[in-house]
Amino acid sequence: MKTRWPEAYKVIETLENAGFEAYVVGGAVRDFTRNMHANDVDVTTNATPNEVKQLFPHTIDVGIEHGTVLVVLKETIEVTTFRSEATYSDFRRPDAVTFVRSLQEDLQRRDFTMNAMALTKTDELIDYFGGREDIEKKLIRAVGDPSKRFAEDALRMLRAVRFSAQLNYSLHADTMEAIQSLHHLIAHVSMERVKVELEKIWKSDFVGNGMNLFVSSQLAGNFQGDWETYRYSWERFSSFGNTANGWAFFALMQPSKNVGTLLSFYKCSNSEKTHVKHVLAAVEQLEKGHWSPYNFFQFTEDVLIAAASYAKQLKKIDTSYTPKQIQQAKATIPISSVKEIVVNGNDLMEWADKKRGPWIREVIETITIEIVNGKLTNDRICIKEWFFREYVNGDFLP
Ligand code: ATP
Ligand code: MG
Repeated sequence: MKTRWPEAYKVIETLENAGFEAYVVGGAVRDFTRNMHANDVDVTTNATPNEVKQLFPHTIDVGIEHGTVLVVLKETIEVTTFRSEATYSDFRRPDAVTFVRSLQEDLQRRDFTMNAMALTKTDELIDYFGGREDIEKKLIRAVGDPSKRFAEDALRMLRAVRFSAQLNYSLHADTMEAIQSLHHLIAHVSMERVKVELEKIWKSDFVGNGMNLFVSSQLAGNFQGDWETYRYSWERFSSFGNTANGWAFFALMQPSKNVGTLLSFYKCSNSEKTHVKHVLAAVEQLEKGHWSPYNFFQFTEDVLIAAASYAKQLKKIDTSYTPKQIQQAKATIPISSVKEIVVNGNDLMEWADKKRGPWIREVIETITIEIVNGKLTNDRICIKEWFFREYVNGDFLP
């Protein structure tokens, strides 16, 4: 561990030298067992948060009541006191956490066997629940009785689906069965957390697994929108690095065009909604034919790349737009934003000898379209001439 995670090693060594136990736990141990390297390392210890704070000069309190302290060395290591999660009354979070004495009790409260292992500083694996074997079989299996564990915290059901998308693992039959009978409990989980998990699925290598399982586990049925009809299409989905594209892909699957309410249900931000609206509009243009120069001006490269790809996947529109062609087409547009136009409202007011009003916006919009379509040069003299010809002399001012 010393060379793999030098900072975590130092934390564990310091805690052990002070007479405490400490181990690496969670995702890092899972990934270590799969021969993958995780950068994000969590440490668990029997020292209380205050004892941890006394041992390190620089710590940050992030959730003392949950037993977590961040120890800041060259990297920041999350150190959590062994704990169990007492009673659960609302299917989402423990009413209280109780610090416990043994590592085993701490590992027992964790969600899946692959996430419930610990590693000593000399790389000895502590595996009470058969996590290593499940990893070999590529199985996601709840620790203990799956029904009990999902009733304690319904989010775990969605985490299982998310891990299947990240790791290409299957759900153990008992775990799957429990989800299929308790799927409705997911409604108790906050939408913010559901959204985080869905977006993690969309960023995964095996998104098709995850979205298929989301439907077959019946979890999807607890949420708005049609997840079912195009469930297999997710296999060909690419987030292009932007999670808002997942919402765009989902929105394109919907029979109804009014996706605003749907996105509000999923607590999407305004910028996500705008992105989705743009992708939908760009796809609609493709359904009618080709993109105009104005479309290349109006939509960002991200939007166009997503729209071209999703139109192909979901609408069977055979567009020939590759990301490279999109970039090239965008580069031929003389301006990339209205801000680049060399005249402004004051110029127009002066030229027309007319007061400020909504007419300015309309004229600027027309100028933009003319420039984008290559019919007007973005040059003060050219625009002034054009303006006098079209508006002032012709008396066409709106
Ligand atoms: P990653 O960070 O790669 O998404 P991870 O396994 O580290 O995966 P975290 O959400 O960071 O996941 O959680 C760290 C550990 O805490 C998990 O490995 C698991 O042992 C435990 N854990 C997290 N969430 C839950 C939960 N809802 N129920 C039980 N244990 C959990
Ligand atoms: Mg983690």
